[in-house]
Amino acid sequence: MSDRLPGFSTLAVHAGAQPDPTTGARATPIYQTTSFVFNDADHAASLFGLQAFGNIYTRIGNPTNAVLEERVAALEGGTAALAVASGHAAQVVILQQLLQPGDEFIAARKLYGGSINQFTHAFKSFGWNVVWADPDDIASFERAVTPRTKAIFIESIANPAGSITDIEAISTVARKAGVPLIVDNTLASPYLIRPIDHGADIVVHSLTKFLGGHGNSLGGIIVDAGTFDWSTDGKYPMLSEPRPEYHGIRLQETFGNFAFAIACRVLGLRDLGPALSPFNAFMILTGIETLPLRMQKHCDNAKAVAEFLAGHPAVASVSYAGLANDKYNQLARKYAPKGAGAVFTFSLKGGYDAGVSLVSKLQLFSHLANVGDTRSLVIHPASTTHSQLDDAAKVKSGAGPDVVRLSIGIEDKEDLIADLEQALGA
Ligand SMILES: *Cc1c(COP(=O)(O)O)cnc(C)c1O
Repeated sequence: MSDRLPGFSTLAVHAGAQPDPTTGARATPIYQTTSFVFNDADHAASLFGLQAFGNIYTRIGNPTNAVLEERVAALEGGTAALAVASGHAAQVVILQQLLQPGDEFIAARKLYGGSINQFTHAFKSFGWNVVWADPDDIASFERAVTPRTKAIFIESIANPAGSITDIEAISTVARKAGVPLIVDNTLASPYLIRPIDHGADIVVHSLTKFLGGHGNSLGGIIVDAGTFDWSTDGKYPMLSEPRPEYHGIRLQETFGNFAFAIACRVLGLRDLGPALSPFNAFMILTGIETLPLRMQKHCDNAKAVAEFLAGHPAVASVSYAGLANDKYNQLARKYAPKGAGAVFTFSLKGGYDAGVSLVSKLQLFSHLANVGDTRSLVIHPASTTHSQLDDAAKVKSGAGPDVVRLSIGIEDKEDLIADLEQALGA
């Protein structure tokens, strides 16, 4: 056995998995069971008291999901991970460990439309207050910090325009404020960007997108970087204070650099309940095996399509960080040298009506509300994902009325360009 550390593609295929010890099955089996038999009464008690690791009930953990957790933790360079039912569930579970009612978190204004909704409305009803900042203006994050700030939330490659966030600069703000930086890495995937290498404390994914990659299964995951010290002056009581639901255990003291992942599992997932189906974990694991191949093809296709659009007379502008003259190209070269992702926007000279008309004429592109599928996708954010925002907020979040969003798949790029050409020209 060589002492070489395995590379990314090897981890994508192997991390967390081994042949099934009882059957020899080489692919990770789907452990489609709700519960697991205890060896004896002592074993059961030690599992329930967090004195031993093991399977109890699939709402808290499952062996298929455990392989997925280990694999994504390895790909992101974290200490541990927790898989849940969706990206949105992951966001709830994370913030439940960090915020008490009345607390605040700072979020970048450029976010997935569903996250803007979740933060503005659902989280408000929990007493968690979002304060918006502009990812293009780092000082706006500093200005937003108050004594009640408990976290900062950004996307590495941000929806909908595929803009690149300066993770290191915002991580410096988070460190100064003494709060963890949470990075939603859904649009980049760890193949393009590993936020932990740039100072993120927690990474979150919608597995539904590029990691699963085939548009067939919802899932979410939380990765603990193991970098944050939760023990400071009772600021994070879920992690630092004795937990009455576990005989007074202090999670940070007991679990050290994976205490956050444990908190998300034993306090968040156990009590809130958004467990991932083992079947979905299996589908997503299968997807991850080809992540490096797919992601490179997604990016290469996206660049070719963006270049085509930039030269088309009906197109007013293209926002793709992989284009040399794009505002985010410098950041793309630094953070995502293999490619600037496959989700981006462009605007049409004909405005809103032209956007709606284009979407209806495309044939190979599917008109739907998802990204990160093998298939190419199109949507008009202003009338769909971002329709709940007022006009000014739409423009600020990159979803103005003339904007069309693409998620480029892994088809032949010539076919994608031909479809756009007929739809733009007709
Ligand atoms: C889709 C998405 C989410 C939400 O994930 P679900 O799995 O749909 O709950 C969060 N963030 C980003 C960037 C997304 O694309």
